[in-house]
Amino acid sequence: MSNLHRRAGADRHAAALHVNPLYSGLISEGGVPRYRLPDGPMHPDAALAIIRDELMLDGNARLNLATFSTTWMEPQAKELIGECLDRNMVDREEYPQVAELEGRCVNMLSELWHDPGQGIGCSTAGSSEAAMLGGLAMKFAWRRRRGGAGGRPNLVIGTNTHVCWPKFCRYWDVEPRWAPIRRRGGPSDLRLDPEDVVSRCDADTIGVVAVLGSTQTGAYDPVADIAAALDRLEAERGLDVPLHVDAAGGGFVAPFLQPGLAWDFRLPRVRSINASGHKFGLVYPAVGWVVWQDAADLPGDLVLHTDVLGGPQETFTLNFSRSGAPIAAQYYNFLRLGFDGYRAVQRTCQDVARHLAAGIAGLGGLEPLTDGGELPAFAVRTAADLGCTAHELSDRLRRRGWQVPAYHLPPALEEIPVLRFVVRNGFSFDIADRLLADLRDTLREVRGPGRPASRQPLTALTR
Ligand SMILES: *Cc1c(COP(=O)(O)O)cnc(C)c1O
Repeated sequence: MSNLHRRAGADRHAAALHVNPLYSGLISEGGVPRYRLPDGPMHPDAALAIIRDELMLDGNARLNLATFSTTWMEPQAKELIGECLDRNMVDREEYPQVAELEGRCVNMLSELWHDPGQGIGCSTAGSSEAAMLGGLAMKFAWRRRRGGAGGRPNLVIGTNTHVCWPKFCRYWDVEPRWAPIRRRGGPSDLRLDPEDVVSRCDADTIGVVAVLGSTQTGAYDPVADIAAALDRLEAERGLDVPLHVDAAGGGFVAPFLQPGLAWDFRLPRVRSINASGHKFGLVYPAVGWVVWQDAADLPGDLVLHTDVLGGPQETFTLNFSRSGAPIAAQYYNFLRLGFDGYRAVQRTCQDVARHLAAGIAGLGGLEPLTDGGELPAFAVRTAADLGCTAHELSDRLRRRGWQVPAYHLPPALEEIPVLRFVVRNGFSFDIADRLLADLRDTLREVRGPGRPASRQPLTALTR
C-alpha cells in the first residue's frame, strides 16, 4: 500500500457508492459518486452514516499489536480535542494560550530529559518531522563548523533506525552511513555497537543517531557507550560529532521505568532528542516533540521570520498550519497523569509485554529476540521446523482479528523474519492471555492436521 493515490480507471471513476437503502430518501436520485465531487449537497445525517459504514471495515484498534500509535484517550480528552480542533498552532497571535501550553510541554519534557536549563524545543507533527528538524539543525551546524571546507555531509545511523532517518538523508541530500546491527550474545543484544559508529565518523559527519528504542525490536541502543566513544573520538582526533537520540518511543518510557539509565541530556554529547507524543505520550495522532540541549545547538538561519498573521513571528517547522488540539491533549495528559500516572501506565504495558513474551517463549517453536523489558514491545522469530513462516503466522492471526506484523530484520541479521508485538495502554493481561490461547491454537493447526482449534468469539474483548 502507498500513500500515493493514482487516478482511478474510467469505469471505477463513474462508479457510485453503495448506499444503504434506509438512507436513500436523504440522497439525490443519481446516487453518490465514488471518485467525483457530488453535484450537490446531501443531508448531514446521510453523509455521516455513509462514511461511518465505510470506516467500520478498518481494524479493531484494541487487537492491533502492529502500531505504536495511541488509539484510546479518555472522554474528557476527546472533549478537549473537539473544543480545540479549530485552533491553528501556527497562529500565535490569535491563539496565544495554545502556544503557552506548547511551551509548558516543552519545559516539562526538557526537565524529564534532564536538560540543565539552556534547552529549546518545539512541537511537531510527529517524530518524523522532529527528525527532519533535528537533522537539519545538525546539517546547518556542520556547515558552520566546516566553513567552506566541507565535502558531502554524512549521518551515521544504525540499520535499526526508523525509515524517517534514511528519508531525512534522501530529502536533504546527506549520505547515510549505515552501522550494522549484529546479534552478538544475549537475547536483547540487537543494538548499535559504539565502535561501528565511531569508525564511520569523519570531519563531514553531521551527527550520529541512536535509537531509544528500536521500532523493530523495542531494544535501546547503548546511548551512554556511544556518547563515551564519541567523547574519545573528540579527545583523540579532534572530531566533535553531536549525538541525536531518536526517543520516539523511549522518551516517554525510560524516564518512568528506567530512571537510572542515562540516555538523555545527562550526557553532554546528546545535543538533541525527539519523541512521539502520539506513541507512549498517550495522545491521539499527530504530535511529536524535539528538544535541543542548548539554544546554541539550533542554528539561527533555520528560524524564519514572518508577520503574515499580524505581529512578528519566528517559525521553524516544515509545514505551516497544524491543529492545536493534540497540544492541548498532550498537556491534558501531563496534568491528568503526572509522573506517577505515566509510570503506572508504562509499568502495566511493560508487565503485560513481559508476560506475553514469556508466554510465547513457552509455546515452543517461537523465540522472542527481546523480552519487552525496554520498550513494551518485542520481536519473535519462528523456528525453522515450525511448519509455517512468520508471514503465514501473521496471516493466520489476522484471520482471528489480531494484527501482528511480520517483517525482516536488517541484512547483518541474516534477514531474520520476525513477528513484532507492541503492547500499548489498554492491552490488558486478559487480552494477552486470549492472544496466547489463540497463538497456541494456531500453532496446533499448523503443526498437525486433525484437531480443529476451539475458540470463543472475540467480541467480548472489544471496547
Ligand atoms: C515511530 C517512530 C518514528 C516516526 O514517528 P512518527 O511520530 O510516526 O513520525 C521515528 N523513530 C522511531 C524510533 C519510531 O519508533
